[in-house]
Amino acid sequence: MSVDERVNVLMVTMAFQGHINPMLKLAKHLISKGVHVTIATTEDGRYRMLNTANTNPNNSDVNSQIKLAFFSDGLTPEFDRSDGESLVNTIREKGPKNLSTLITDLTQVHNYSCVIVNPFVPWAIDVIAEHGIPCALLWIQASSVYSIYYRFFKNIDQFPNLEDPNEIVRLPGLPPFEVRDVPTLILPSTPFYFREFTRELYNALDKVKWVLGTSFYEIEEEVVDSLASITPFYPIGPVVSPFLLGEKEESDVSVDMWSVEDSCMEWLDNKPPSSVIYVSFGSMLVTSQTQMDNIATAMRNSNKSFLWVLKPGSNKDNVAEFSNGFSEETKERVLVVKWCPQEKVLMHSSVAGFISHCGWNSTLEAVVAGVPLIAWPSWTDQPTTAMLIENVFRNGVRLRCGEDGNASAEDIERCIRCVTEGPSAEEIKKRAREMKEAAWKTLQDGGTSSKNISQFISDLIAGKPDRA
Ligand code: UDP
Repeated sequence: MSVDERVNVLMVTMAFQGHINPMLKLAKHLISKGVHVTIATTEDGRYRMLNTANTNPNNSDVNSQIKLAFFSDGLTPEFDRSDGESLVNTIREKGPKNLSTLITDLTQVHNYSCVIVNPFVPWAIDVIAEHGIPCALLWIQASSVYSIYYRFFKNIDQFPNLEDPNEIVRLPGLPPFEVRDVPTLILPSTPFYFREFTRELYNALDKVKWVLGTSFYEIEEEVVDSLASITPFYPIGPVVSPFLLGEKEESDVSVDMWSVEDSCMEWLDNKPPSSVIYVSFGSMLVTSQTQMDNIATAMRNSNKSFLWVLKPGSNKDNVAEFSNGFSEETKERVLVVKWCPQEKVLMHSSVAGFISHCGWNSTLEAVVAGVPLIAWPSWTDQPTTAMLIENVFRNGVRLRCGEDGNASAEDIERCIRCVTEGPSAEEIKKRAREMKEAAWKTLQDGGTSSKNISQFISDLIAGKPDRA
C-alpha cells in the first residue's frame, strides 16, 4: 500500500453541527497551508451527510484534500441522540475500541503528525496516546469558558456557592459576573454524567501537546494573558469559513445537517441595507412554543424584516402553516426557513442584527461579519458567551429572561431597537466594526492568530514522523 508523505493530520469529532463546523473550517485553513486532513466522525454523521449536496458520504476522499472517515458511537443511526445520558454512556463504552480500529486502518496509509480532538470526545485522548500519536485539543468555545472550566476543575480559584445564581464570581481576566452566567455544566443542577464528562477532559490534558482555541487573542486579551502563567493556550481564530475573511475556499466540502434554503439570499437581496433581523438558535435547541409565540408577536409589532430559522424538529415542523398565521403585511416582512447558509446570511448587507442562542460558532461568525447580537442563551457555554457579548465585547445586548428561560415580546422589541436605533445602536455598531477589523487583522501576517497557527504547523513539520 502506498504511503502518503505529506504532513497529515487526523481530526476526531462527534457529528453535531456545532462540533464538526469548526473542525472543517480549521481543516480548510490547514489545507491552504499544505497540510493533508482526515476528519473522523461518528456513523450517524454519514447518514445525515448523505442528504447534503457537497459531501461524499463514502469513506473515501471527498476531494484530493479532505478525507472523511467514520466510526460507530455504538448506537443505531435512528437512535435519538438528544438523549444525552445514553449517548455519553454508550460512546464512552464503545467509542474507544471503534475509534482505535479506525486509527489502525487509517495509519496503514497515512502517517499522522497529530490528531486534533474537540472537547466533546475526551475519551479519544487516551486512544490517541495508545497509538503513540501527538494530540492537540481544538477548544471550540470562548477562551473565557476554557479558563473558567480550567480554574474550576483544577481547583485553581475559589468559586462562590454555585447553588445561588445571584452570587458573584471573581476570576482573573474577567469582570465580576453572576453564578447564573457560569457555563452550566459546572452547576450542581447539571446531571452528574455531564459534569463528569467535562471533568474527564481536564483530567486528560497532560496527554495533550497543544491547546488551540477557535477564538482570537484581541477579543479576550485579559483572559488569555491570565492563562499564560497556568497553562499553555493558543487562540488561532477566528475559525470561520475562509470566505468570511475574504479568502478563496480551497475546498467546497460542507456538512450541513439539513438542506440549505438558498432562496433566502434572493429574499435578502430585495431588502434595504441594515433592515433585517436574523433569528436562529443553532442546530440543537428546540424552540419552545412560548418562545415562538413571543418572537412572532415581536415580529408583528416591529417595523423590521425578519429571517427566521426554525430547523426540523422545532415545535412547529410545518413552517408553512405557521407563516400562514401572519397577516399579509407581516408575511411581506418575515421569511421562515428550515436551515440557511448562515455565514452568507450574516455577510449580507441587509442584515442589521442577529437574535442568537450564543452558540460559539454563531457568535464568532457574527463577530467576523460585524453583525450586532441580541443574546438569548440557554445552556452550557451560552450564558457565559451572552455575558461576554454584553459586558466584554459590547457588540450586542442580552434579553431579560425569566426563570423559564423565556423573554417577553416587549423585551425582544426593546433589544431590537437597542441594536438598530439611537445612540446605543451607534455604540454597538462601532464595537461590532472594531471587532470585525481585529478579526481580519489577527489572521494576517504578523497577527497573533497567524503566528500561533504558523507555530503549530512548524511543530507538525518538525515532528513529522519518519516512515519506517
Ligand atoms: N447554521 C447554519 N444554518 C442555519 C443555522 C446554523 O449553517 O440555519 C450553522 C452556523 O453557521 C454555525 C452552526 O450551524 O456554524 C451552529 O453552531 P453553534 O455553535 O452556533 O450552535 P450549536 O448548533 O452548536 O448549538
